[in-house]
Amino acid sequence: MYGKFQEHLQSEIAAIKEAGLYKKERTICSPQGAEITLADGSKALNFCANNYLGLADNKRLIEAAKKAMDERGFGMSSVRFICGKQDLHEKLEKAISDYFHTEDTILYAACFDANGGVFEPLLTAEDAIISDALNHASIIDGVRLCKAVRYRYANADMEDLERCLKEAQAQRFRIICTDGVFSMDGNVAPMDKICDLAEKYDALVMVDESHSAGVVGPTGHGVAEQFGLYGRIDIFTGTLGKSFGGAVGGFTTGRKEIIEMLRQRSRPYLFSNSLPPMLCAAGIELFKILSEGNELHDRQQENVAYFSEKMIAAGFDIHPTQSAICAVMLYDPILAGNFAAEMAKENIFVTSFTYPVVPKGKDRIRVQLSAAHTREQLDKAIAAFVKVGKKLGVIK
Ligand SMILES: *Cc1c(COP(=O)(O)O)cnc(C)c1O
Repeated sequence: MYGKFQEHLQSEIAAIKEAGLYKKERTICSPQGAEITLADGSKALNFCANNYLGLADNKRLIEAAKKAMDERGFGMSSVRFICGKQDLHEKLEKAISDYFHTEDTILYAACFDANGGVFEPLLTAEDAIISDALNHASIIDGVRLCKAVRYRYANADMEDLERCLKEAQAQRFRIICTDGVFSMDGNVAPMDKICDLAEKYDALVMVDESHSAGVVGPTGHGVAEQFGLYGRIDIFTGTLGKSFGGAVGGFTTGRKEIIEMLRQRSRPYLFSNSLPPMLCAAGIELFKILSEGNELHDRQQENVAYFSEKMIAAGFDIHPTQSAICAVMLYDPILAGNFAAEMAKENIFVTSFTYPVVPKGKDRIRVQLSAAHTREQLDKAIAAFVKVGKKLGVIK
């Protein structure tokens, strides 16, 4: 049987390559950080990680994880409703609730699971989910797993959201769901307007803080802090894999009864292993670090401002950003691909994004700034952008 199926896969893979969409992976042989070492021993500056606060190689997190591994072992070998949890899981859930000013939190193996398991337990075919068109794949999959009626509004378009809310008045309950920061443009969802519309049209609000937590808001506590919306957002989901240390782990945090119901019915929680104790301990330490001061967040913000300003002065077209994501617009798929390849030759890692990941003609290089980047490293990256930009005729 495999012969025919193998031929089918080989031709599909060839088509992916032909379309220029084949994904290759480089091999890193050092900790994740501003500077990384590759398998051949060469070094490069990394501007494509979600390591926004530079904590992926943080000594305190590593120590906390090691200590927990010595004291609590390697893994839980179970799901929580069968074997229970450790106090470390409870403490991490409490730390997340405190950080987001919410009532309770439920941990998942990843935010992909949090989003996959949030809608189906709460809503039925009588209800409506109203989703931003640019929401993350995991929200889209979570919505697909739920029988609620689906509505989709254009990215951050409040008129279009209002149209959906009017149409959805026929349903029993309505929920608006959105990313906090959209990962292609780096724009922040207009949460104040979303919450106002939610109130007017009697809808719940859910936001995925994966790219916004640790970054957005005066002290980086996310969109509720940014817009002064504590108590008005019903559900937050997020990841421990970006600003919050960069390992793995996800969570849903929000109203007490919502979290209580998820513990009873959310399938990625019920039927998947609980987080290993070392990740819980590192997570607890992470929120302690964040509570001690705002330096990492401030440095991250300064780095975005510095980088954008210098790039605009050099003549690049930078998409206005409100996050750690800086899109250098090139408007051509081949140019964007070549640009990223030329940057790699300069030992600067940035990612090109082309259709269908971004709209046709909106091809770009995405740069992700971190608190870990030094001024000198930013200057090196900017110099490489200028060199490649001139070579490829993007700037004069
Ligand atoms: C990265 C990301 C996720 C997935 O997070 P994991 O914890 O890595 O599964 C979910 N939602 C958004 C918006 C993200 O950016």
